[in-house]
Amino acid sequence: MAILGAGAAGIAAARRLLARGLSVVLIEARGRVGGRALTARIAGQAVDLGAHWLHAADDNGLVGEARRLGLPLFDAPQEPRLILGACEADAIETRRFHEAWADLDAAISEIGAGGDLLPASAAFERLAPQARPYRDTLAFAHGPFACGVSLDTIGAADFAAARDDLDLFVAGGYGALVARLADGLPVALSTRATRIDRSGPEVRVETDRGTLTARGLIVTVPVPVLARGDIVFDPPLPAATRDALGALRPASYEHVVLSWPGGPLHEAANTTVAFDGDADENLGLLANFDGGVLHYADLGGALVGRLGSPEARAGFARESLSARFGRDAVAGLRVLHASGWGEDAFSACAWTIAPPGAHGARAALREPIGGRIVLAGEATSSTLWGTIGGAWAEGERAARDVAGLLAGVSAAST
Ligand SMILES: Cc1cc2nc3c(=O)[nH]c(=O)nc-3n(C[C@H](O)[C@H](O)[C@H](O)COP(=O)(O)OP(=O)(O)OC[C@H]3O[C@@H](n4cnc5c(N)ncnc54)[C@H](O)[C@@H]3O)c2cc1C
Repeated sequence: MAILGAGAAGIAAARRLLARGLSVVLIEARGRVGGRALTARIAGQAVDLGAHWLHAADDNGLVGEARRLGLPLFDAPQEPRLILGACEADAIETRRFHEAWADLDAAISEIGAGGDLLPASAAFERLAPQARPYRDTLAFAHGPFACGVSLDTIGAADFAAARDDLDLFVAGGYGALVARLADGLPVALSTRATRIDRSGPEVRVETDRGTLTARGLIVTVPVPVLARGDIVFDPPLPAATRDALGALRPASYEHVVLSWPGGPLHEAANTTVAFDGDADENLGLLANFDGGVLHYADLGGALVGRLGSPEARAGFARESLSARFGRDAVAGLRVLHASGWGEDAFSACAWTIAPPGAHGARAALREPIGGRIVLAGEATSSTLWGTIGGAWAEGERAARDVAGLLAGVSAAST
């Protein structure tokens, strides 16, 4: 069995297939495993350069894996602090903001449950007048910060389908956990798949380092990479699969890692911070993560593409905080890293979203192709899209599907 991509989905699929006694090879274009999960050591701290939050902890297979490995898990903040101008909002203002936040969630869910015609932004029309002062902050926090696109772009149905309960962090980093789960797996690193010949009884996988054949294939390559044809399928993918790949949209989300000792937000560890301001020009902070002096300044949506490079995003983060808190306040601020997942040839996005009318594309991508090929990854999850937990569950689902398909073929041929 061959698996393209050694991110969360590919690793989960490989583990599941090996547990069933099947032979497996993972083909990975990068020189490392983990895909969009990657932990680096920066300023003596484990820093996730991609995924960091263990979302939907009650339904996230990685939580169980962390516990099995004895890695401590700790609560992630659920509600952000609100900063208006340079000052912390008072308790009444903060409570009103959190109420407006919950009201917006409820309104999007209601619209999403009613069909897949409207964007999530339609929910603003249902908000009570007392929520209106927070409209821009909520549009950023629910849009670019949570989804990587504006609420005009994502369908209410896709937004509402996403599980959004308890979040956790894992000691040592999420990327380190994912990479550890690949220990001992048969992975061909630095091997880029270029063409899949599915015309014969076996699947031929051509790579830049040679060709292999397999009875079945799981493809976990990110949707935008597949949609732009980086891997040629012969014969081409079915029209329904191509339509579904084209219907999902890349979302943009990037971290700028700051060291900011003595900055104005240094009090509590692991606090998320929401600011007032234009939803298209805002950023969100995870302040003092793991209790140190490092912060994420996170940018999402169209702003990421408009700025165009990690360096420009680093400059934007510094300028934006300087404009808010004053030059003196950012004198000790240093940018230690700025991510570039959207520019990276092997991810091309942070995750996918479904615009109005397209939520069903996620299920369409789960349909097996030609009885031997199954797609998996964050994009094929209807309820945990955009997450490691979703990619993991989908990798396990794909392993079951492809093993079932091949068992069916063997039974039919005996
Ligand atoms: C900045 C950022 C923050 C995020 N924050 C969170 C978070 O806090 N919590 C969370 O749950 N999720 C988060 N996500 C999303 C999460 O990282 C992804 O949903 C998840 O990692 C996707 O896993 P996957 O296995 O589907 O894809 P990937 O991890 O992208 O794996 C696909 C693999 O395919 C490989 N590949 C690509 N092309 C080829 C080819 N031609 N041949 C062979 N291999 C190929 C890639 O190199 C990659 O390793 C974040 C993402 C980003 C970018």
